[in-house]
Amino acid sequence: MKYNVVNRGDEISVRTNNRFHELAAECGLTLDPEHPDIVVSIGGDGTMLHAFHLYADRLDQTSFVGIHTGHLGFYADWKPMELETLIRHMAAGAESFRTVKYPIIEIQIVTGQGMETYLALNECTLKGVEGTLVAELRINDERFEMFRGDGICISTPTGSTGYNRSLNGAILHPSLEAVQIAEMASLNNRVYRSLGSSIVLPKHHHCDIYPKKGQKILLTLDHLNMQLSDLVSIRCMVADRKVSFVRFRPFPFWNRVRESFIGDIVE
Ligand code: NAP
Repeated sequence: MKYNVVNRGDEISVRTNNRFHELAAECGLTLDPEHPDIVVSIGGDGTMLHAFHLYADRLDQTSFVGIHTGHLGFYADWKPMELETLIRHMAAGAESFRTVKYPIIEIQIVTGQGMETYLALNECTLKGVEGTLVAELRINDERFEMFRGDGICISTPTGSTGYNRSLNGAILHPSLEAVQIAEMASLNNRVYRSLGSSIVLPKHHHCDIYPKKGQKILLTLDHLNMQLSDLVSIRCMVADRKVSFVRFRPFPFWNRVRESFIGDIVE
């Protein structure tokens, strides 16, 4: 079993990282940052986003597992005190775990320079840098609406608990192959009109966003961002590839939602 570790860089994550390498060597795991079978993210959900983008070009060969060094995460369920158990499971090989595959989004970005394709684990967002974003949305090549507002967020089901949730988007179970498009503070009055609620597209649909020409756009992909002054359009859809997480024990999605956002239920 070949592995690598990505950590958040704070004291407890670095300490956990060092201990992980010691125990892994004792259990016969091979450190291979180039071609890992499993990438262990130590930190928070943000650390998993970094790990995902580091290995986005080998999603078919690499799976991920998360150790949280803060609060319970959506991508990280192991605690530092459980390192030995986790490493023993990894050393026991593929029979000791199962892999769950979750949908991600593909974003095709067309600028004056050409087209580039990216993947996102949580979401892609578009915002106007100098004010209101004005953009036409087309769904499956049909004009849908003219959006005016702070921005647009296109999220995956696992990303639906991140930025999307702050925009009042629905939380989607990650077994659904779908993308959600949520508005950020849309302008809605007698002149300007957009739907005003988020929409969920299935796998075989796509959405194109054409910002009005001449706008400076801030485009984010998970924790990454870029400013574009010559953005022509972006196309978003469910990607053909998926992200794999290794599960050594159950990690029910709705339990995570409840523990993260609701807490104890008071009768
Ligand atoms: P950050 O500002 O350090 O993290 C923002 C928070 O989002 C962190 O608490 C992070 O958890 C949490 N988070 C990340 N993915 C999540 C998910 N799938 N479900 C629930 N919570 C999640 O930025 P970052 O660490 O670089 O992460 C970038 C992410 O932040 C973006 O992908 C976006 O989802 C989120 N974000 C949210 C808002 C908002 O809600 N208004 C605004 C911008 C960005 P950890 O503490 O465990 O890392």
